[in-house]
This record gives sequence, structure tokens and C-alpha cells, in this order.
Amino acid sequence: MKFDEIRAAEERLLLSTYNRSPILFTGGEGVYMTDEKGERYLDLLSGIGVNALGYGHPAIVETIARQSRALIHISNLYYHEGQAELAMRLTERTGLDRVFFCNSGTEAWEGALKLARAYAGLKRSEGAKTGTKFLALEQGFHGRTFGSMSTTYKEKYREPFAPVVSGVEFVRFNDVDDLRAKFSDEVCAILVEAIQGEGGVRPLTQEFFAAARALANSTGALLVVDEIQAGMGRTGKWCAYQHYGIQPDVTTLAKPLAGGLPLGAVLCSEEVARVMHAGMHGSTFGGGPLACAVAVAVIDTLEKENLLAHATEVGDYFQQQLRALATRHDAIVDVRGKGLMVAAELDSADLAQAAVAEMLKHRILINCTSDTVLRFLPPYILERAHVDTTIAALDQFLAEHAANSAAPSQGGQIHG
Ligand SMILES: *Cc1c(COP(=O)(O)O)cnc(C)c1O
Repeated sequence: MKFDEIRAAEERLLLSTYNRSPILFTGGEGVYMTDEKGERYLDLLSGIGVNALGYGHPAIVETIARQSRALIHISNLYYHEGQAELAMRLTERTGLDRVFFCNSGTEAWEGALKLARAYAGLKRSEGAKTGTKFLALEQGFHGRTFGSMSTTYKEKYREPFAPVVSGVEFVRFNDVDDLRAKFSDEVCAILVEAIQGEGGVRPLTQEFFAAARALANSTGALLVVDEIQAGMGRTGKWCAYQHYGIQPDVTTLAKPLAGGLPLGAVLCSEEVARVMHAGMHGSTFGGGPLACAVAVAVIDTLEKENLLAHATEVGDYFQQQLRALATRHDAIVDVRGKGLMVAAELDSADLAQAAVAEMLKHRILINCTSDTVLRFLPPYILERAHVDTTIAALDQFLAEHAANSAAPSQGGQIHG
């Protein structure tokens, strides 16, 4: 099918849930994607934080070839080699004890919510007062299924599907007083992202994170940290909470976990894990042989190629270059992030939209989140030279924008 035909067919046949950019991608290599005309695009988004090793990495390609010849799917009724191999690696790197495998971020988050409610029930049966309420954060994002959506802040994600899951209260981001005011023994879990992703690449303060940990400890409530976007090495550590030295009771992983294949994981402490019994929770596809084998290969490759340190190094360079750009362009109001989770906040939503469109013309893929925030979630194999290319394109765009807005009457004169 020709691109025009594909677009027409999608318009007719798919639910209109996405606004796609008009490019048809057919291949990729390293940090580049290629469209149907053979044009290369520098990918600073990696499929929204998924393709940690970029495109066509031999470790992934060869593992898929080998494992797909052996087994792709068997269900969770039987054993295969992959879950134990992967669970060993994940528990060692997250500091948690047990894992449940699923297929996506939102499914992992649902698992975490169910675990928290069930654990609170167990505590009550043992005489504790722990209630059923969740405290989630303003601007937080946890996914699109009912529980995840109900703990996601933005109205637009929840409102059309009301009534949402009850028992969720939102706390002002990084506001310790608000957290203290809303916390009580009614709360079964405090739900946070260590660094908010969709919310605009906003890190928790040490003070807020520590207060959440201490409050949870004071009643036996759980601290649940969503690492679906920030986890798996993107920020230079396996989990973003490790930058704070704070250990959660439950965490969730997904996006980059299996290098592009769908895979999610819920991890928890031994104490929390004791609530789960056979039959309480499950997933047909979750933790299949193919996805697990690739995830094992991803972790081993991240280590062999030293890519966590690389993400830190190139990410620091990226932020440094963005800061230098900000000194020349007032339109950049903030630069933040950790490792290769980087953001530049602009002073207007229109400008941010225009930047994404203009960068696409330069064949650089970025996106805009929370209206004004340019977000960069590149593959971890990004090099300084790619950062330089990006900075030069942004510099040119912002200079042109500044020139245009410095002479606002020009357009008028043409018409006049
Ligand atoms: C993307 C994301 C999710 C949802 O993951 P899906 O795989 O899209 O369901 C949940 N939490 C965070 C922090 C995310 O970034």
C-alpha cells in the first residue's frame, strides 16, 4: 500500500485516538529511523522511552531470532527459562525481592495497585487499621486502564470515563504540608514517580520523597514508585529512586524493559509479596519466553556496553548544552532531568508545538509534554555529536523565532 492509501485506510478503520505525524517509518539503525523514502531521522524519543538500545541492535535481533525458533509463548501454566533469569537480574538491581510479569506499563501499575489494596486487607486481618485510600500526585501519570487512569491526575484522561475507581486523592506535587495533611491511617499507599515523565520531567524533592517514606512507615502503608519511564537505567541508575537512597515497597517497570517488545514488571518486598496466592492475579501473555529472553539480553547489553554510565555522561552534556542555549534564548525558561531523561521548558505552548514541528523538518524526533515542555528520551546509545546536531537545530529555530517576534509589525506591513 502507498502512504496515502495507508493514511486513508487508518482514518476509516481505526479509532481516532492518535494524532500521528505524517511520516511512514520502514526501518531503523542505531539512533536513526528511516522513512519509506529512505530519509533518516535522529530519534530523541525512542518510541516514548522504549528503544533503549536504539534500532537493530544485534543483541536484540539475534535473541529474537534464536528465541522465536525455540518458544514464543507458553502461558503461565508451565515453566520456561526466562522468568527466573530475568527476575534474578531485576531483584538484584532494584533491591526488591519478588516479581510479577505482565505486558505493559499500565498493566504493571494495575498490579501494583491491586497488591497495595490486597496487602492493606491482609494487614487489617492482622489487626492493623490500614485503610484503602490511595494518595497520588498532581501531574502524575500512570496509564490508561481504569485503576491507572484513576490515579492519573489530568482531568482529560479521567473525565470521559467517569465514574473512575474511588478512593484516590491527589497531593500537590512536592508539597510536604499537603502530603502530611492528606495522609492518615486510611491510606494504603502513596503513589509517586521519582521523576514525573508525562507531567513534564519533574523530579521529586529529596524532602518530599523522604517525607512520603517516613509517613508510609509510620502506619505500615506502602510507598509505590512508578519507574515505567525513568527506570531501567535511563537516568544513569537502574531506578530513579536510587538517586535519592530511598527504597520503595513496590515498583513498576515497563517501557525499555524488553528493548521494544511489550513487557512490564511489578516488583515488591518479601513482606508485601506474602499477600499473593495462586489465582489472585495473572496474565496470559505476561512474562512470555520471547519478551523475557530479550529483556535479559537488554540488561546484559546495558552492562556489557556500560550504558548507564554513558547515559549519565551524555545526559549531563545534553543538559549543559541546553543550559548554554538558555543563556542565549529567553524562551527557554528551565532545563532539567537526569541522565537521558531530559527536558527544556519553553515560555509558551505554541512555541513548544512549533519547536516539535520545526525539529521534524530538521529530521529530529522530539515531543512536547505538559504543554510547554520539550522532552528528550533518546536511546541510551546517543552520542555527543547527536546532541550537538540537536542543539544547533534548536538554536536556529529559537533565533528565527526571536527575530520574528522582535519585528511583529512586519507581517502587518505586508498586508497593509
Ligand atoms: C508510559 C507510562 C505508563 C503507562 O505505560 P503503558 O505501557 O503505556 O501502559 C505508566 N506510568 C508511567 C510513569 C509512564 O511513563
